[in-house]
Amino acid sequence: MNLKHASSKSCFQEILSKIDTFLFDCDGVLWQGNHAVLGAPAVVSHLHNIGKRVCYVTNNSTKSRIKYVEKLLRLGFPADKDSVFSTAYTSALYLKHIAKIKGKVYLVGNPAMVEELDNFGIQHFGSGPDNQVTSQDFDEVRSCILENDVSAVLVGYDGHISYTKMIKAASYLSDPECIYIATNEDHRMPLDGERHVVPGTGCVVASITTSAGRQPDVIAGKPGSFMLECIKQTVQINHNRCMMVGDRMNTDILFGNRNGLDTLLVLSGVENQESLDRAAGSKDADLKSQVPKYFMGSIGDWENFVQ
Ligand code: PLP
Ligand code: CA
Repeated sequence: MNLKHASSKSCFQEILSKIDTFLFDCDGVLWQGNHAVLGAPAVVSHLHNIGKRVCYVTNNSTKSRIKYVEKLLRLGFPADKDSVFSTAYTSALYLKHIAKIKGKVYLVGNPAMVEELDNFGIQHFGSGPDNQVTSQDFDEVRSCILENDVSAVLVGYDGHISYTKMIKAASYLSDPECIYIATNEDHRMPLDGERHVVPGTGCVVASITTSAGRQPDVIAGKPGSFMLECIKQTVQINHNRCMMVGDRMNTDILFGNRNGLDTLLVLSGVENQESLDRAAGSKDADLKSQVPKYFMGSIGDWENFVQ
């Protein structure tokens, strides 16, 4: 595949002429933490104003769709609920409409996931700290009480993850009928501090996968293709005229490439020129499948062409 630099006016025009729908990853593409990427709101607003369909596609499970709309509008991006596809929402959608879950869901998650499950009327338990076992005594921990009739285990970001929660998740999953769904498998959070390395949700998913001895039945986020199915329920997508814009190759770009979309990598987030060059020059099939069609420094590189 020929890697193309996208920051020139001619390349911007080429992309505009062949793309109707833009799928934007959020953190690292539109913003970094709580600050919009310079020029990004102007570019995305322009795309929206000239009639392009703009969607926001994020692996972050810590915000409901409503909270995403609030954040997008606050930072100057055009948004409504139907344009947001976040994993707290897509995982609940899977449980309701694909798995058609009848019983309870054991949730290793956070308040945004509670909100989205509640929106779909799905029964769940497990959120917040697990105070059932407070002692460090191993016999007490290993004999924590399990509920009956658990139809699914849903794992996302959980700041209260504990050994007791891992025992419960793995035990419920020992029933082969119990569905295992994870929001995403990102290994690291995007914004490490100067000294901090912040493990991503994928680390918790990996520990439950290992202890349960089975893989998730579905990943609700990128690079899983269920995310695209969710988008297609709301947005008419012609794969040939749709572009995924992301900052992480093993989630965003792999998602786009696998699904036959055009892909644009921006270097304003997780990846840099070195990691891109390494993938582009690699003979390894896994890495090659993560190489984008286009790349540029940031979405803001197009700001001059939209004024
Ligand atoms: N998961 C969590 C908990 C996060 O905080 C973030 C980014 O802040 C992500 C995943 C990655 O989100 P995105 O897919 O928008 O880059
Ligand atoms: Ca990102």
